[in-house]
Amino acid sequence: KCSRQDVPHRIINLLDGFKASKTLFTASKLKVFDVLNSSESLTLEEVAGQINASVLGTERLLEAAVSLGLLERVKQRDTSVYRNTDQASRFLVSDSPVSLHGYILHCNDMVWPLFSHLENAVVEGISQHERAFGKKNEDVFQDAYYSKDEVKIRFMDAMHSIARVTGKDVATAFDLSSYKTACDIGGCTGAMAYELTKAHPGLSVIVFDLPQVIEMRRHFKPKEDDDRVSFVAGDFFKDDLPKADLYILARILHDWSDEKLHVLLSKLSKMCTPGCGLLVSEIFLDEERKSPSRALLQALSMTEGKQRSTTEYSDLLEKHGFTLRHIQHTDNLLDAMLFVKEDPNDKRT
Ligand code: SAM
Repeated sequence: KCSRQDVPHRIINLLDGFKASKTLFTASKLKVFDVLNSSESLTLEEVAGQINASVLGTERLLEAAVSLGLLERVKQRDTSVYRNTDQASRFLVSDSPVSLHGYILHCNDMVWPLFSHLENAVVEGISQHERAFGKKNEDVFQDAYYSKDEVKIRFMDAMHSIARVTGKDVATAFDLSSYKTACDIGGCTGAMAYELTKAHPGLSVIVFDLPQVIEMRRHFKPKEDDDRVSFVAGDFFKDDLPKADLYILARILHDWSDEKLHVLLSKLSKMCTPGCGLLVSEIFLDEERKSPSRALLQALSMTEGKQRSTTEYSDLLEKHGFTLRHIQHTDNLLDAMLFVKEDPNDKRT
């Protein structure tokens, strides 16, 4: 007789995991969730017509999406109709306020090709960007993401969607009421900056990012403008950073090696007077480097950076005079740590 232990459920789920991801990516790319959002519910033939796809292929895609809990199929009179689940309406429709659509397209068009070369990535220990896209990249942003406008917008859209989903939880993770000016280093579209000003009425935020990114900021401007958010273009390894009393590093540190980070962190340290804050937002690894697997899977893309635990971030920042004040696990996609620049004359031993 078969006991449950005889069935390798976990392994079977993993075997099918890539098919499930690709089903989500394809339904998003073909805008299935958008067409279902614009009318309450549609028949198979109506969906196929609106996404310009075969009825057979659409049927298989929709049935797979129902089995994954992304869509619902219900009987209406004599026909079956499809509609979005609540999660799909919130997170998969492309113009929803917390849409993950941009990030999903990035996963499909950028991460998927990289992961199809994972075997080479592991054997060689380097990013497979050249194999996947035929181009060498020294700096993942300047050479890979920002060399073509279309890829740049897609990457910015991906960052924007994650920042909108996590922004509020990160912005409200700590009491920031003592700070008046913040600078979001590598703040991209400003999505996090707008969440910060919404959450903290006394705060204004400067978004600092590469010129190629800042020039696109209007594409991502929220409906209600907020003049407490401003943008400054520059390279955080080479140029002067804007003055602020709180610096934000959201999803920046994991992209770079310790050596590169020492360049950025020593600049930040020089800019900060005692009492200045530094908010780090990342996925934090547990101390045994066993979870969350989201971070460990991301690391397989082999950028020059690495995923770190809260102790590793703390050690890195302490070298530059920042003391850890709080850690907040948000139960969202990103967690947060708040550091304060200490007075060098007041150092406790
Ligand atoms: N902080 C944003 C967020 O959490 O959504 C974006 C994170 S994204 C992973 C990294 C950001 O750093 C990008 O917006 C990128 O343009 C910016 N960046 C990369 N290298 C930079 C540099 N040398 N100077 C300024 N910004 C840079």
